[in-house]
Amino acid sequence: MNLCSDLSDKVDEKVLEDLTFNVKEIQANVLEEILTLNANTEYLWRFLHGSSDKELFKKNVPITDYEDVKIFIERVANGEPFDVISGKSITGFILSSGTSGGKQKMFPCNNKYLENVKFIYNYRSHVISKHIDGLERGKGMVFSFCTQGKKTPSGLLASTGTTSFLKSDYFKNRPPYWHWSYTSPDEVILCSDNKQSMYCHLLCGIIQRDEVVKVGASFVSSLVRAIIFLENYWREICTNIRYGRLSDWITDISVRGSVSKILGEPNPELADLIENECKQKSWEGIIPRIWPKTKYIESVATGQMAQHVPTLEFYSNKLPLISPSYVSSETMFGINMNPLCTPQDVSYTFMPNLSYFEFLLVDAGDKVEIVDLVDVKLGCYYEPLVTNHSGLHRYRMGDILEVTGFYNNAPQFRFVRRGNMALSVHLEITTDDELLNAVTHAKMVLESSNLMLVDFTSYADISTTPGHYVFYWELKGKYNNDIAEIDSNVLVECCYMVEKSLNNLYKDYRSKDGSIGALEIRVVQQGTFDALMESFITRGGSSTQYKTPICIKSSEALMILEKRVQARFFTDKSLS
Ligand code: AMP
Repeated sequence: MNLCSDLSDKVDEKVLEDLTFNVKEIQANVLEEILTLNANTEYLWRFLHGSSDKELFKKNVPITDYEDVKIFIERVANGEPFDVISGKSITGFILSSGTSGGKQKMFPCNNKYLENVKFIYNYRSHVISKHIDGLERGKGMVFSFCTQGKKTPSGLLASTGTTSFLKSDYFKNRPPYWHWSYTSPDEVILCSDNKQSMYCHLLCGIIQRDEVVKVGASFVSSLVRAIIFLENYWREICTNIRYGRLSDWITDISVRGSVSKILGEPNPELADLIENECKQKSWEGIIPRIWPKTKYIESVATGQMAQHVPTLEFYSNKLPLISPSYVSSETMFGINMNPLCTPQDVSYTFMPNLSYFEFLLVDAGDKVEIVDLVDVKLGCYYEPLVTNHSGLHRYRMGDILEVTGFYNNAPQFRFVRRGNMALSVHLEITTDDELLNAVTHAKMVLESSNLMLVDFTSYADISTTPGHYVFYWELKGKYNNDIAEIDSNVLVECCYMVEKSLNNLYKDYRSKDGSIGALEIRVVQQGTFDALMESFITRGGSSTQYKTPICIKSSEALMILEKRVQARFFTDKSLS
C-alpha cells in the first residue's frame, strides 16, 4: 500500500483509518522516500555521503534551526541549482508569517507541499462534515487573502503558504466535491489588495447571507479584524446594496466585474435589514444576526489565538468554534478529529504521510532525547523536528506540544505555546529578548532627561481594537528618589523608541496594516514592583528565585499594576 503520496484526490474515510493505523510503516516509507530523493544533495552529502540509510540519518544528520539552513536556501533563491538542498525540483518559496527576528523566514517549496495543503483542506472538511449536517447545501464566507509575493533572483516566486496554494492549479481546478463553496468569487480571494478583498468578502457574504452556513478565517484574530472592518464599513456596504452599485474605490477590474455580478440589482430591503442590525448599540451576536444560518466558525483558536476567543464569542454568540488543523510554512502536521470540542480541549492528530516527524523531549536537562512519532509518550512535552520533501532535515519548529492521546495509532497533540514568544496581539511574535532590547534603547532617551527606569514589565492589551502593547514603568529621579514632574515629551519619545526597536513584523502590522495599535507606557507609583514581588512570595514563590517577569499574563498581577498607574503615554509618530 502506498499511502505516502498523492492520497488526496479522493476523500475517503478509509484513507484516514489506514493512515492512523499504519503510522509506523508510513513514517518509515516517508523517510525512505525523502532520503532516496535527497541523498545526493549538497546538504545531505556532507553527512551521509550518498547513503539513504535511515539509521545513519539519525546518527549523522544534525538537528537544525533556520540560521543553519538559511544559507543553503538563499543560494537556491539566488539562482543556484535546487539540488544544493533538495532532490526534487523547487518550484517556489514559502514565506512564514513571523520569527523571533521578525524577518520572514523563507522555505523551499514544491508540489508535495501543495499536495499536503490540499490533503489537509480536504480531510479537515471531511471530518467536520461528519459532525455537522447540511454543509454541502450551503456556502462558506471565508476571509482568505493573498499577498503579492516577491520574485527571488532565481526567478521563482516567494509568497505565503496560503497564497501559494490559492494561486496554484490545485485551488483553481478544485473539484466540486471538495466542500468548498464560497460566497466570494475567486477574483476576490486572489486579489492582493487586502482592503479591497476584505470589503468584497463582506459585501458578497452579506448579499448571500441566507446561504452562509460557515464563517471562516485562518486565525481567530483575522476574523475579529473582519468584524471590526464591518463596524467601519457597514454604511457604505449598505449603500452599495441599496443602489446596486459598487464603491468606486474597488478598482481591481476583475474584482469589480465579479462582485458587481453578485451585487446585482438595487436591493433596498436587504440594505434596510442590515442597517437595522448594524445600527444597534451592541454588536453582541452580530455574526448570527447577519448570517442566521451559520452552523459554525472555522478558524484556528489555539496557541497565541486563544486570547482572541472571548472577543469572537461575543460577536458569534458562542457558535461552535472549530480549530481545524495545525499547519505551517515548513509542513502540514495534523487535523482536529474532534472538531466540536471546546477551544481549550483541541488536539491535532498528526498525519504520518505529510513529512517525517521526530520529537525533541522538552526539559530533558542536558540529555538530547529524540523519539519517532510512534514513540511519543502520553502527557510528555515535545518540540517537533521536521524532515520534509523540499530540503529541511530534522528542522526545529520552535513549537511546544503536549501528547494528549491517540487516534488509532496516531498521536494527538495539544498546542502548548510557541517556544520563544512573549507578547503577541495579532500574528506577530515578540520575544523576551526583543522586549528587553527595545526597552534598553528607550532607556537612553529617559536617562538623558535625568530619569531612571527602576523596573518594567509588559502586557498584550487586546481589550482595545486593534490590540496594543502596554509597558508598566516605574521611574525615579537620577539624582534624587522623587520625580518632580514627568515630561510627557520624553515619555512619548520613549514609546516611539520602543516601537522603533521592535521587530519588522511588528512594525509592518503597526504601520502598514493597522492590526496593532499605538504602544502605551503606563507610569506606575514608586514601590509598585516591590508590591508585585510580594504578591509572588505570598503565593509561595521564593524571593531568591524571583525575577520580574518581562511580560505579565496573570490578572492578579495586572490588578496590582493597574491600581498604581499614575500616567499614560502613547506614541504620536508613525513608524513608516
Ligand atoms: P507560518 O509558518 O507563518 O504559517 O506559522 C506557523 C506557526 O503558526 C506554527 O509553527 C505555530 O506556531 C502556529 N500555528 C499554526 N497552526 C496552529 C494551530 N492550529 N494552533 C496554534 N498555533 C498554530
